[in-house]
Amino acid sequence: MGITVVGTVAFDAIQTPFGKVDKCIGGSGTYFSVAASFFTDVALVGVVGDDFTEEEASIFKGRRINLDGLQRVKGEKTFFWSGEYGFDLNVAKTRDTQLNAFAGFQPKLSEAQREPDVLFLANIYPELQYDVLKQAKRPRIVALDTMNLWIETKRAELERVIREVDLVIINEAEVRQFMSESNLVKAARGILALGPRAIVIKRGEYGVLMITKDSAFAAPAFPLENVFDPTGAGDTFAGGFLGYLASRSELHDREFRRAIVFGSVLASFTVEKFSLDRLREVTLAEVQHRYREFRALTHFEDFEV
Ligand code: AMP
Repeated sequence: MGITVVGTVAFDAIQTPFGKVDKCIGGSGTYFSVAASFFTDVALVGVVGDDFTEEEASIFKGRRINLDGLQRVKGEKTFFWSGEYGFDLNVAKTRDTQLNAFAGFQPKLSEAQREPDVLFLANIYPELQYDVLKQAKRPRIVALDTMNLWIETKRAELERVIREVDLVIINEAEVRQFMSESNLVKAARGILALGPRAIVIKRGEYGVLMITKDSAFAAPAFPLENVFDPTGAGDTFAGGFLGYLASRSELHDREFRRAIVFGSVLASFTVEKFSLDRLREVTLAEVQHRYREFRALTHFEDFEV
């Protein structure tokens, strides 16, 4: 049932051209879970230190998020990431990454966590993604995300996981980096050749491009006047995308396209404020409303040629 996700629950320090925060809640698993829980049940597998208080954990409360798999390690600190953006908000510059509690984390999935409809290996080191993948029992979809750090430092380990997943959800720059190929379509084909059924390329303010062996689908980003902090947009997208798919019985192309739009809608909320400050206050009615606006944005009529 639902989704199992393994990923970071983190403290972030973020600087954008519009402001800075020294410590706020972040993490790939955090953004993903909150977004996916609009559509389905989520089991979050991760680890925090004892500096992650009940008040911070309240971000997960009142949502369809099960925290049995979120360990708290005494005497350890929570994963920490510090990043900075210039005026091109599509490019995050990492200033510091501290694995902290994640360094020795070896989760043993419970029976329930082993049997989700969808397994998401959110951005975290590839050995951990592989270990969790091997514990799961035939989910309908296995998807992963990654980032430049792991492409640079754990390439072989990352390739091993990619060979066994159905979907790769990855940033545009990382597709090019992974394949050492500047043409995005060629680079995507190279990743598909490793085994995945589809690759979903996140292109920041330019939207999303999904490529399979025999089809392609593109969606723009929702046009916003105020983009404040892009952190977490990718994980929020993945949460909306896979959360929606996990809630559907049929997984045909039409549902994948709707899922891309739901992911894009949720991500558009995340970037409106720092951290999860906007996403945490959003209602399902607002999500549905923006989904309809998105449809109007991309609609055009056929005509006779
Ligand atoms: P994104 O959706 O790509 O903007 O992801 C942002 C989140 O990823 C931040 O909240 C960070 O805490 C988290 N993050 C940054 N670096 C890493 C990493 N190396 N491994 C896992 N999570 C990370």
